[in-house]
Amino acid sequence: MENSEIKISICHLYPDLLNIYGDMGNVLALKNRLLWRDIEVEVSEVHAGERVNYKKHDIYFIGGGQDQQQIAAAMELQKNKDAIFKAAVDNESVFLGICGGYQLLGHYYQPYEGDKLSGIGLLDVYTEAGKTRFIGNVTAQAKFLKRKTIVGFENHSGLTYLNSGAEPFMKVKIGNGNNGKDKSEGARYKNVFGTYLHGPLLPKNPELCDYLISLAIRKKYGCEISLLKLNDDIETFAHKDRVGVKY
Ligand code: GLN
Repeated sequence: MENSEIKISICHLYPDLLNIYGDMGNVLALKNRLLWRDIEVEVSEVHAGERVNYKKHDIYFIGGGQDQQQIAAAMELQKNKDAIFKAAVDNESVFLGICGGYQLLGHYYQPYEGDKLSGIGLLDVYTEAGKTRFIGNVTAQAKFLKRKTIVGFENHSGLTYLNSGAEPFMKVKIGNGNNGKDKSEGARYKNVFGTYLHGPLLPKNPELCDYLISLAIRKKYGCEISLLKLNDDIETFAHKDRVGVKY
């Protein structure tokens, strides 16, 4: 299959509500790494009050944010719960949720003060705020990548715990990850990934970005294409600069 025959549609969920620490850089990384390979790409945004068209998109992204914005995003997500489940479970579309967005893909987020926010339960995880915030650089390992090391930045008070329906996305080497106790970072179910890692994550971890792109192409076209190698000197520099950096 030729690259020119491929078209990937990316859906950015609630960019006005959840977009902190440059999270939208993840969407730019996905988009540009497709364009640089002459693969057609379309980016749509879904805002409060709008419906998700589950038939249209191949990759969905939701970022992190403050607790206040998370309340609004939580209510909006409920309205699109059925469409998101169709996309993620029936179509096996790729999802990436960061921090607050990750928490809302789980069953619930209980802030330290205030009401519990219902998540949509796409990821079999739940989150309860602890007394301290975890703030710092993270080095983790994703076992499904050739170059396993992932770098990112975490800032959250939520402590996330995985139930049996979700597997850890990564293993923490430096930093706290899901809860600071069990060394797990993020969660995965099918092609749905949630993580606490801002950074933004994908520009600094190009292999992970390409992995998500490959999953989306495989799911849509049922075939494996070998992605053209890009010049990743700048991305690799940014990545290596953070590997092993003390918390
Ligand atoms: N409310 C969340 C927490 O502090 C989300 C933070 C974030 O998205 N950066 O745990």
